[in-house]
Amino acid sequence: MLLSDLISDSGYFDSATIPQDFISIHNNRPLEMAIEIMNDHKVDRIVLLDGADKRIGLLTKDDISRYSSTLSEKEKLEIFSGDSPLCRTIEAKFRDAKATYNMLGIAFCEIITVGNEQIIRWLNAEAMLTFGVNIDDPISKMLTQERWEHLMNIFNTQGGVEHERIEVRGRIYEVTLLEVELLGRRILKLFLHDVSELVRLGDELRQSLERTIEHIAHYDVLTDLPNRLLLQARLEHAIAYHKRQVQKVAVLYLNLDHFKDINESYGYMAGDSILVQASQRLASVLEREDTLSRVGSDEFVIVLEGLENVTKSEEIAKKIQALFEDIFTIQETSFKLSVSIGIALYPEDAESSELLLKNADIALRRAKDNGRNNYCFFSSEMSIQLFERVLLERELRHAVDESEFLVYYQPQVNLNTGELSGAEALVRWNHPVMGIVSPDVFIPLCESTNLIIPLGEKVLKDACSQVKLWKEKGLFKGRISVNVSGKQFERPDVIAVIKSIIDETQLEPCCLELEITESVLMGNPKVFGEKLIELKALGIEVAIDDFGTGYSSLSYLKQFPIDKLKIDQSFVGGLPHNEQDTAIVKAVIAMSKALGFRTIAEGIEKDEQGEFLKNFGCEQGQGYLYSHPLSAEKFEEFLKGLV
Ligand code: C2E
Ligand code: MG
Ligand code: MG
Repeated sequence: MLLSDLISDSGYFDSATIPQDFISIHNNRPLEMAIEIMNDHKVDRIVLLDGADKRIGLLTKDDISRYSSTLSEKEKLEIFSGDSPLCRTIEAKFRDAKATYNMLGIAFCEIITVGNEQIIRWLNAEAMLTFGVNIDDPISKMLTQERWEHLMNIFNTQGGVEHERIEVRGRIYEVTLLEVELLGRRILKLFLHDVSELVRLGDELRQSLERTIEHIAHYDVLTDLPNRLLLQARLEHAIAYHKRQVQKVAVLYLNLDHFKDINESYGYMAGDSILVQASQRLASVLEREDTLSRVGSDEFVIVLEGLENVTKSEEIAKKIQALFEDIFTIQETSFKLSVSIGIALYPEDAESSELLLKNADIALRRAKDNGRNNYCFFSSEMSIQLFERVLLERELRHAVDESEFLVYYQPQVNLNTGELSGAEALVRWNHPVMGIVSPDVFIPLCESTNLIIPLGEKVLKDACSQVKLWKEKGLFKGRISVNVSGKQFERPDVIAVIKSIIDETQLEPCCLELEITESVLMGNPKVFGEKLIELKALGIEVAIDDFGTGYSSLSYLKQFPIDKLKIDQSFVGGLPHNEQDTAIVKAVIAMSKALGFRTIAEGIEKDEQGEFLKNFGCEQGQGYLYSHPLSAEKFEEFLKGLV
């Protein structure tokens, strides 16, 4: 019990009449504390203060004793009468108790009852002596923690303690019984603790906990929007209802574009705040019967019900996009966000809640692929494409395990002498049914699934050990070029992996060249530049692949320890007639020379292209004109033909 509860019973006092030097206590403290203070300071009055330290009343010992009234005679009778639950308990515990004690409350028994807040509600004369408590003294009726422990000790240390709950007139008592022998007499000590308040509090706590758990199970903690579970239930309900009404239901699957960047750059607090703001904006476009839910970190789903036609869902999608045109702010920092939306409709696209959600998700992915800040309606060929992608991914994993990959070799020639100057290693997937599959089909998928890591290592190892063999046979001169994907190059251990492959295969590092595309290198020039320096230190050469297709910064190019620029085949294809291509190729060769790099052109198919490149100073060439990429076996024959 708090003092604030008590004072509401005692009434308020005029603070002006309270002497200044009285001891005071805040009214949000327990009654027990006030009693302790009174005892310690030997005073019988204490001033009560409110939250603003205003003196609001006086508490006296009388107030306390009024509050902590003793057990009523009626209660006593019901607790201790012959056939009360308590007596039945005693009889059951102590078989011969009935004979010995006959009637409780007689001299052989020490009885103490303690109410809520550890206030003694009644004790008999015998107990008064043993426990050293005077029932007539209101202060003494309060059991301080010390005295409470003393009391419990009496029961606990002497053994034989039994706990049982009994109910009398709606109040619950916890009974502790102890039988002791003293000077040949058997004495029954009885301790009754009124735990009604505790039980009630426990019940309330349990109920409120159950309500909280129920809420958490169905609502998102951050935004308080329905979660996936509740969404599914509502969607199912909507489908069942609109089936009868012959109306449509639309599911809009939303994802915030580049949300990850906010979390990574500004921290999760900023991310959370954006999510809350976004959920409030989204809620503003919906009507009462619609459902907005949060189903993933930056994913929301909207269910629109009772649509006559699809235009409504499109209107909402447009409205949502317009909502995101306004900037978001967190502590004076502004953020521009956009949203991608996938839409699936009941009954056209699916008839079950699960499939509707899945199809809306597929449409969302398409909206993202189309460049984000987009909405996209689901169509059945999307799911076929996705199915094929999933199949292909599964087969790819299998292929990595089963070593279905082969390395092909395409010669690189010295344009001035026509001699072989090296070769590029190009991976092929030898699919058991489809046959040889081009890397354009599977490399992007390998990159998005990280399968490129083991695959890239395998290609590098195979190429290095194969070239080492050809060199030993005196068949191969020059360098082997191996492609390295961005995913591989960004790994912190990439240099260590390359070094271990060199060590293992014993290929001289100067015979190895790595091709890294321009766009990868420029994606993280600072970090990647440091890696290039490490490669250089190992003696490995580096060529920039597909040069001209990305946006190189000349200042970086100048700083990078690069050996070669590889002119992309899209420019070579236009030689020598396309004016733009010729201009670009000439400029790239000139720039490459100026920066001290060598130049190679890929995709040379015609004599005139080779001639053009040679005339403008490009040193090396690669393309179908000289040879298609060849299997290791065929390439060995090719090499033998050269000697
Ligand atoms: P890339 O590195 O630019 O490789 C050159 C591509 O051009 C090769 O295609 C090659 O077969 C093709 N090519 C060569 N000469 C000609 C020609 O005269 N005309 C035409 N039209 N094309 C020609 P491929 O082998 O299909 O490889 C495609 C791309 O796949 C490669 O482009 C490279 O980016 C990637 N790739 C291939 N193997 C690997 C690998 O082991 N690791 C990684 N990360 N990527 C690889
Ligand atoms: Mg290449
Ligand atoms: Mg290329």
